[in-house]
Amino acid sequence: MIVVLAGGVGAARFLEGLVQVVPPETIVAIVNTGDDMVFHGLHVSPDIDIVTYTLAGIVDPAQGWGIRDDTTHTLSMLATLGAETWFKLGDRDLATHIRRTELLRAGWTLSQVTDAFRRALNVGVRVMPMSDDPVATEIATPVGWLHFQQYLVQRRARDEALGVRFVGVERARAAPGVLEALRAAETIVIAPSNPVVSIGTILAVPGVRDAIVASSAPVVAVSPIIAGAPVKGPAAPLMRAVGLEVSVRGVASCYRGVIDVLVIDQADADLANDLRVSGVDVAVTDTVMRGPAEKRRLAEATLDAARTARRCRSY
Ligand code: GDP
Repeated sequence: MIVVLAGGVGAARFLEGLVQVVPPETIVAIVNTGDDMVFHGLHVSPDIDIVTYTLAGIVDPAQGWGIRDDTTHTLSMLATLGAETWFKLGDRDLATHIRRTELLRAGWTLSQVTDAFRRALNVGVRVMPMSDDPVATEIATPVGWLHFQQYLVQRRARDEALGVRFVGVERARAAPGVLEALRAAETIVIAPSNPVVSIGTILAVPGVRDAIVASSAPVVAVSPIIAGAPVKGPAAPLMRAVGLEVSVRGVASCYRGVIDVLVIDQADADLANDLRVSGVDVAVTDTVMRGPAEKRRLAEATLDAARTARRCRSY
């Protein structure tokens, strides 16, 4: 079994490559829920939906989130009725949030809902929320603490990020199956996701980091930072906000003690020796995922790196 720690778009693209290389049923994706938020009374789980829609082949390929060819009539009507509509939710996408909320109100857990939805959409990968308990990622800014979605989507990351916190994480329990999957994993992969607000959140759930460190499986991370910049998204200001350099060095120091090997892009090959000296093994390959062939190649290179890795993480 391969266990993948996942955020949204970067992770979903990586998983599209991985399912070309190993049977989807042998993959478990543990997904960040710190970005979850209630909109129009509905529970929205952006990263879970991005991963599930992508693996179901229905994601909007241009955006990387939402459903392909979706319409926005409901949102227009909500705006007419005075609702705040800065978080874009398509009509078909809204069905997911309506049904999720309905099932949660009926007493289902988020893991049960997530599993039911991925089955309904014929996704073979087992998709699990990191926790069934609420965790909210918040960003400190000069105007105060903002929920991650307010910081990124409503205010378009225009505020200086000064810090990050995961509200509720100390009390959150790993979702059923998460720690068990990490213990039973043959390989653990940290997808190319935001190291602070996607992977950092998952690692902050009590028990997760320890289960990874104690696992006998090799742990490999794919850097979301290439040549000193993220491919997309707010990783740069958020890495700086927690004191990390925006580079593969920053990614390596964020994951030090947790991973054995970091997969970095050719563009960063000159930093490989630095990283090795600092105590993490390195594999260099092309890590930009444009089409299906590149996604597949990155998945293969990542599994190869895991196979040949020496153990670098600490107990
Ligand atoms: P989000 O929650 O939708 O922002 O998604 P993630 O946290 O999963 O991913 C965001 C990170 O994925 C960003 O830091 C990107 O740099 C990274 N990313 C996206 N596409 C690629 C890619 O093709 N290659 C690599 N190496 N990283 C990528």
